[in-house]
Amino acid sequence: MKTDIINRSDKVIAKTYNRFPIVITRGKGCTLWDSEGRAYTDFVAGIAVCNLGHAHPVVSKALSDQANSLFHVSNLYYTVPQVELASWLVDNSFADRVFFCNSGAEANEAAIKLARKYFNDKGDLRRNRIIAMEQSFHGRTMATLSATGQDKIKQGFNPLLEGFDFVPFNDIDALKNKINPFICAVIIEPVQGEGGVRCPDAEYLKDVRRLCDETGALLIFDEIQTGIGRTGKLFAYEHFGIEPDIMTLAKALANGLPIGAMLAKEHVAAAFGPGSHASTFGGTPVITAASLEVVRTLVRERVIDHCSQIGVYFKERLLWLKDRHDSITDVRGIGLLLGIKLKTDGEPVVKKCMEKGFLINCIQGNILRFIPPLIIEKDEIDSLITCLDEIFLRG
Ligand SMILES: *Cc1c(COP(=O)(O)O)cnc(C)c1O
Repeated sequence: MKTDIINRSDKVIAKTYNRFPIVITRGKGCTLWDSEGRAYTDFVAGIAVCNLGHAHPVVSKALSDQANSLFHVSNLYYTVPQVELASWLVDNSFADRVFFCNSGAEANEAAIKLARKYFNDKGDLRRNRIIAMEQSFHGRTMATLSATGQDKIKQGFNPLLEGFDFVPFNDIDALKNKINPFICAVIIEPVQGEGGVRCPDAEYLKDVRRLCDETGALLIFDEIQTGIGRTGKLFAYEHFGIEPDIMTLAKALANGLPIGAMLAKEHVAAAFGPGSHASTFGGTPVITAASLEVVRTLVRERVIDHCSQIGVYFKERLLWLKDRHDSITDVRGIGLLLGIKLKTDGEPVVKKCMEKGFLINCIQGNILRFIPPLIIEKDEIDSLITCLDEIFLRG
C-alpha cells in the first residue's frame, strides 16, 4: 500500500510539498500511525493545528452531530453554531465582531481589506500602505504573499500587490522611521512562527502599539499560529499587556477543520458593511459547531494551563540539551511554540527522529520547531529529548 500511494500521489498531486515517505492513516491523542502500523509521537500537530490532539472524541461527536442535522446554508441566513462561536470569541478577546472564512491567508486578506476600507470610509484615500515585518509569514495568496517578508517564497510571482513596506522585526527604531500618515496598518505576528520561532523583546509590542496610536495606524496581530492557547495564553497578545485593533486566527481554531477568522473592534469592524466582503463557506454550521466544541474543551479540560506549564518544562529540557551539545546554538519560544537553532542543516535530524518514531519540523534550514498538541505529556517530551540527545551524540 505504502509504495503504491506514494507513487500515485507523486503523479497526480501538485508538487508544492516535499513529502516524507510515510503514509499516515490514523491518529489518537499525540500519536499517529502509518500504513505499516508504525507509531509516531507527533511534535508537529499539523503545523500547530491539532491542539487537542488527534481524533478528540468530544470534537468528533460535535462534528458528526452537526453533520447529521445541517452541513451548510448561505450566510444569507442566521445559524446557531456561527453565533455561538463568534460570541465565545468576542467574550474571550478584545474584539467586538468576527468575520469567518476558511484559512489563515483568507483571514489576513480580510484584515488587509478592512484596514484599507476603514480609512477609505473616512475619506482618507491616500492612507492605504501597510508595514509588515521582515521574516514574517502571512500566507500564500497574492495579498498575503505581498505582506510576507521572505523573498524566497515571493520569487516568480510578480507583480505582487502594491502598498507594503518592510522593517526588521523587534526593531522599534526602524518602525519609527518608516511609519507615517500614509500607513493604514502595521501587521505583525506577536511571535514569528515560520520565520524561525522568534520572540520579541518584552517592551517591543507595547512600543509598536504606542507608535500606531500616535500616528493613527491600525495594529493587526496575525495570531494564526500563536492563537488558541499555543503560547500558554488563549491569545499571545495577552502576554504583552496590549491589544491589537484587528486579529486573525485559523490553524488551531477547529483542531484540523478548515476555518479562519478575522476579529476587530467595533469602530474598525464597522467599515465592513453588507456587500463589502464575503465567503461562501465562512462560518458554515458544520465547521463552527466543531470549533465551538474545540474552544469549550480547551477551557473545560484546562488545556491552556497545561500548555503553559509543560511548555516551561519542555524549554528547560531543550536548554539542558543545548548545554550538552555545541551543535545547538539557541533555544527559543514560548508555551508550546518552541525551537532550537543548529549550527548545521536540520533536515537530517528530522529524518532520524522519524526513524525513531518522532515527528518534528525544520524551518529556515537550521531551526527545529516543536509544536505538539497542547495535551502533550512529560514522558512524551522526555522520550523525544532522549532521542535528540542520542542523535546529537552519535551524529
Ligand atoms: C499558517 C500561517 C498563515 C497561513 O495560513 P493558511 O491557513 O495556510 O493560509 C498565516 N500566518 C501565520 C502566522 C501562519 O502561521
